[in-house]
Amino acid sequence: MTNEELWQTVLAQIQLVISPANFATWFKQTAIVSQKDGEMIVSVPNSFSREWLKNKYHKLITRIINDQDNRIKEIKYAVGSVVQTTPERKTNPTVPAIEQLDFQELKIDKETNLNPRYLFDNFVVGSFNELAHAAATAVAKTPGEIYNPLFVYGGVGLGKTHLLQAVGNEISKNFGKKNIKYLPAERFVSEIVGAIRNHQIESLKTKLQKTDILILDDVQFLAGKEKTQEEFFHLFNALYEKNKQIILSSDRPPKAIASLAERLRSRFEGGLIADISFPDLETRMAILKTKAVEKNIEFSDEIINYVASSIQKNIRELEGALNRLSTHQKIYGQPLTLEIAKELLGSLVAGPPKISSPKKIVQVVSDFYDLREKEVFSITRKKEVVKPRQIIMFLLREELKYSFPAIGRMFQGKDHTTAIHAFKKIKKGVEENEDLAEEISLIKRKLYGL
Ligand code: ADP
Ligand code: MG
Repeated sequence: MTNEELWQTVLAQIQLVISPANFATWFKQTAIVSQKDGEMIVSVPNSFSREWLKNKYHKLITRIINDQDNRIKEIKYAVGSVVQTTPERKTNPTVPAIEQLDFQELKIDKETNLNPRYLFDNFVVGSFNELAHAAATAVAKTPGEIYNPLFVYGGVGLGKTHLLQAVGNEISKNFGKKNIKYLPAERFVSEIVGAIRNHQIESLKTKLQKTDILILDDVQFLAGKEKTQEEFFHLFNALYEKNKQIILSSDRPPKAIASLAERLRSRFEGGLIADISFPDLETRMAILKTKAVEKNIEFSDEIINYVASSIQKNIRELEGALNRLSTHQKIYGQPLTLEIAKELLGSLVAGPPKISSPKKIVQVVSDFYDLREKEVFSITRKKEVVKPRQIIMFLLREELKYSFPAIGRMFQGKDHTTAIHAFKKIKKGVEENEDLAEEISLIKRKLYGL
């Protein structure tokens, strides 16, 4: 039996036991992409379907497959567009190479820097981001042909990165391995600066000029970086002349970016500028619902409404609130009441009363990680100590606005670079790692006695 026949059999049986609507939603565009050494990989169209299949239908699928072929021990789900595969044609261009896929958690692609989590599929559109979304989808359909550059601007946590990366992911899905590069502007700056220092600027330029789709996020960071701006100007022109797509984001429109060379500003303004404003209540509720489905958790409309009404200006914070509620609900295994939800979100909603002290920070963090306070000040490099120590440094900066040199001095004469490194590391960690984000948010709650 070929993979295709096997999957047809599975689908036929599943169809018998679930509703047509569910079948259409979760099983269209699925297929077996490979089968080797007892491991089978089923490709699904997006991360939603993957989570659903994994969480809701895995047992059923496993049972049916084992009835057909009991050598299959493990079934995994991978996001990838499906084309009919035959055993001979193993490497299909539109199915991402298996080693790039992570089945447990989504991994950032090393070449493109794209995070597969950010898709058009899970991007909620409302009047606040309609234009930016329309422009982004148009660019994804015909890169390099209509709006070049596409410049998206808007405040923090309102979906710029998500939208830009969705364009990249969509292009990579539809056009295969284009040379797509997503870069936060900060990183672009440091790569340029590093390359100049190491006399490798020419090879970096050659490499960047091969890009087909360049996505530069948060270009306000180019402000005042003259050398980088100059390099970017040339890169921009080189790509533009070859009809390569350039996509940019910023927290403000080009004309409001201070210390930006005029010629670069006029390039930024040469395509389409689209802004993202604030989502209205209805849209905020839709976003929360989408995120809840993604996390496979349910909340009453009352709670969704409460969260959406309380947090208005930042989608990342909306998500943070949802994470907090979902952690609680998962731990206690029962639906939250509105009262508990209010209690849990009190600090987020009202903004924490900012009273803290360095002593309190050290005490709370040590306590949280079960360390003696003396240990965090020791010179040990043990992992169990290094992380809490870095968190303390992070909080001293974030909560009390201590200077980096002052923070360094508190830790046996470490210098400011150690403190800066710690701060950046934790800040990045919080963005990328849900567990760490949750730990920090718990620590902050203890810090403010919430
Ligand atoms: P920005 O880059 O503007 O600071 P992000 O793109 O990082 O914001 O978005 C912050 C979080 O909010 C991300 O987790 C993102 O998935 C989510 N988000 C933003 N806009 C939307 C949207 N329209 N639909 C669904 N999720 C969104
Ligand atoms: Mg961003």
